[in-house]
Amino acid sequence: MPPARRLQGVRSSPVRDLLALTLRPEVISFAGGLPAPELFDVDGWGDAFAKAVGDRRNLQYGPTEGDPVLRALIATRMTDRGVPTAENDLLITTGSQQALTLVATTMLEPGDVVAVEEPTYLAALQCFQIAGARVVPVASDDDGMVPSALAEVLERDHPTLVYVIPTFANPSGRTQPPQRRKEIARLVADHDTWLVEDDPYGELRYDGSRVPPLASYGERVLYLGSLSKIGAPGLRLGWLRAPKDLMPVAVVAKQATDLHTSTIDQAAAAVYLSNTDLDAHVAGLRAAYRARRDTMLTALPATVPPGTTWTNPEGGMFVWLRLPGEVDATDVLREALKHNVAFVPGAPFFATTPDHATFRMSFTTNPPEDITEGMRRLARAFDEFATQDSLEV
Ligand code: PMP
Repeated sequence: MPPARRLQGVRSSPVRDLLALTLRPEVISFAGGLPAPELFDVDGWGDAFAKAVGDRRNLQYGPTEGDPVLRALIATRMTDRGVPTAENDLLITTGSQQALTLVATTMLEPGDVVAVEEPTYLAALQCFQIAGARVVPVASDDDGMVPSALAEVLERDHPTLVYVIPTFANPSGRTQPPQRRKEIARLVADHDTWLVEDDPYGELRYDGSRVPPLASYGERVLYLGSLSKIGAPGLRLGWLRAPKDLMPVAVVAKQATDLHTSTIDQAAAAVYLSNTDLDAHVAGLRAAYRARRDTMLTALPATVPPGTTWTNPEGGMFVWLRLPGEVDATDVLREALKHNVAFVPGAPFFATTPDHATFRMSFTTNPPEDITEGMRRLARAFDEFATQDSLEV
């Protein structure tokens, strides 16, 4: 059977086979965007699931919109973060990845344009492509999407959606400052289009001052949140905050997709959020991840070739790097894998024209001592690569 036509243009990552090798136990991998497993609150979630399963209603079908107690708890959390939110503004989703799919299903016709920052989250690109959209990149600098570049794309391509990860972006680690958020929210409102704010990392700040979500700067924002990075990704719990007019359609799309997100997982999360000081847990994550980020950033100058540039993320999980010259980071990854260390080449994070010299490194998955060892291996891999005359150093 041939696949549906709208799936035919969707790119699978060419580095897939290489990334499979990063799963070997001897490899120290900076490739996956994985939270640290040893920091999961196993006892807290164990208690919450035990309590939730004690009520047999939590093994029953539930409302499509989601568990009302969980929605209310998340609404309060969002309000506390500067985005006034009521329970009815929220739809619980099976991870924020599903919220992305529901947004695409709800908002996009085939041929519609989605504007994205460059580089951007690979699975968002796939999601928009599957919806039949044309993805148009918007130039970005150290502060994220550039407003003047967005203004041009808005005038020229009339995008239906503008997709951004304004806080500690995947893959770049960049954050939009408040003034830029204001400008972007205003531009989007002036052009009667919609912003999609994808915010799975926003609470993971290690230094600098807090910036309220983009959703607090304008009305025309569909906000995507997630428990994956502050709780655990295996829960598969996320949410969509959408304006009143759009919510009923998003709920129909959700119903057609999976009726509702797992009742028991939602009930456990409601118990967990009621009984646990999540802020204290997140403070612990922040301290641990700050140390890991600093270990990686401190080791970088002695690891990568001179002329390499990288971002200095104030939070999140990723450092984004560019090698000097016209090197292909996939060739370097091949060498790195021989030294049992890995990262992700950057090319798949570009909507149209990839910059092959870029790559992404995640600093959250490994403890500091493994990061230090991984960086030593990476330094040797770069040395080896340079002596093969492939890299100008
Ligand atoms: N958006 C971004 C930018 C991400 O990096 C991720 C996960 N890596 C997701 C959405 C999906 O997260 P989840 O479905 O686990 O909430």
